[in-house]
Amino acid sequence: MSDRAARIAENLVGIRERMAAAAARAGRQASEVSLVAVTKFASTADIRALAAAGWADFGESRPQQLWQRAEELADLPVRWHLIGHLQRNKVRRTLPLVAMVHSVDGLRLAECMDAEMPAAAVRPLPVLLEVNTSGEAAKDGLPLSEVERLLASVAGFRNLAVRGLMCMAALEGGLAAAHRDFAALRELRDRLRNHCPAEVKLDELSMGMSGDFEAAIEEGATIVRVGSALFEES
Ligand SMILES: *Cc1c(COP(=O)(O)O)cnc(C)c1O
Repeated sequence: MSDRAARIAENLVGIRERMAAAAARAGRQASEVSLVAVTKFASTADIRALAAAGWADFGESRPQQLWQRAEELADLPVRWHLIGHLQRNKVRRTLPLVAMVHSVDGLRLAECMDAEMPAAAVRPLPVLLEVNTSGEAAKDGLPLSEVERLLASVAGFRNLAVRGLMCMAALEGGLAAAHRDFAALRELRDRLRNHCPAEVKLDELSMGMSGDFEAAIEEGATIVRVGSALFEES
């Protein structure tokens, strides 16, 4: 094994330990939280090292890069997660490649995904609704006030299975703001869970990245999306 591959395997162990410790602090089981390894800044060799270390869930934020990665790594048993914005003209090509889309952020996109779901895709495809919990204008995602309405519409779609919600913490405000945004997503989920359509499951909360995944786990994350901390040198 190269030094670099050993480094990445160590990083993976370290992240898993920090995830388990954060879960324990919150009185949760480590098994309640899964990790999507975000590969957007990683080389193909680094991704192969992570796969060799036992990882199979990988995330990309750009559809075109996901297509390219999926092709380069077609020999690996990878589950790809799309975690960034999906343009409607990229739906057909993206959906057969992914195990989950974390970033459904509007009715027109959801309608397009449902209508154009290729035969080769997982059906129904597990999806999360992306919510702009911080309200920052530069962020993708639905305003908090629009989530309930989109859930009601998507519940009737045959080819999409809503499994939960996703957010990114505010860019400003550090960990305190991250805690606030993650708690807001959990509270929204808890409120909607009581009266959402039966087809909709809101079990998953995809939140937390390299700088704030422990805070996210303390606030109830079931999926964390970690990139740079997995691939860093030291
Ligand atoms: C890049 C990215 C991540 C991972 O960010 P890191 O800080 O590198 O861990 C997580 N989620 C989304 C949506 C991203 O675009």
